[in-house]
Amino acid sequence: GRADWLSRALGRAGVLPRAEAEAAIRDGRVEVDGRVEREPFAPVRPSMVVRVDGRVRELEAPLLALMFHKPSGPVVHGSDPEGVGTVFERLRAVLPEELHGYEWLAVGRLDRDTTGLLLFTNDERLVRHGTSPETHVPKRYVARVEGRPAEAALARLREGLMLEDGPTRPAGARLRAPDVVELTLTEGRHHQVKRMLAAVGHPVLALHREAVGGVVLDVAEGAWRMLREDEVAEGL
Ligand code: URA
Repeated sequence: GRADWLSRALGRAGVLPRAEAEAAIRDGRVEVDGRVEREPFAPVRPSMVVRVDGRVRELEAPLLALMFHKPSGPVVHGSDPEGVGTVFERLRAVLPEELHGYEWLAVGRLDRDTTGLLLFTNDERLVRHGTSPETHVPKRYVARVEGRPAEAALARLREGLMLEDGPTRPAGARLRAPDVVELTLTEGRHHQVKRMLAAVGHPVLALHREAVGGVVLDVAEGAWRMLREDEVAEGL
């Protein structure tokens, strides 16, 4: 197994979420190979014997990933200066107790008012892979927009257009209704869908994400499910 920081290893292995693990370590509740370890960043390997409150805890972590149907409202941030709530709190509220110890990391972000598919995992390598600008996992969005986009606007979305942070990659774009655009992007820049649609004269009124790679949202708003192995392999 690979080395990791003690606090992060405890979070990934589902023992304690990282912030709680850090507090437990600082409080002297965690032993590594028979000695109290008070440094959350101490390197550990899965072969080491770790006890929390005297109980041996396994550090070898299964790779877990789940889908959550994000409602409009909560932010996908660790901090919540406006007090609107975070998706991490919303997820925790619906997860069973045995999954509470894991450090659930969001794979990418959705805006506060965007609904739909948000993936979570306990493995930061999956997060890096899923959010890397080099990965190009297709992400399918549905946007209700102002006005009625004409074919010329859709063609510009498909070909790629210039935003202030550079040109967009070729995208999939089609109408589902006169004011509803399905847009499939292979990149994920900040507010990208909203900026692209505004750039062609059709500001977004409501935005929803339906799919990421081979993973298609199929749970109700506010609900979650674990991903199947084939979905993890294809979707992230
Ligand atoms: N693009 C946006 O503009 N917002 C999102 O939440 C996701 C993609």
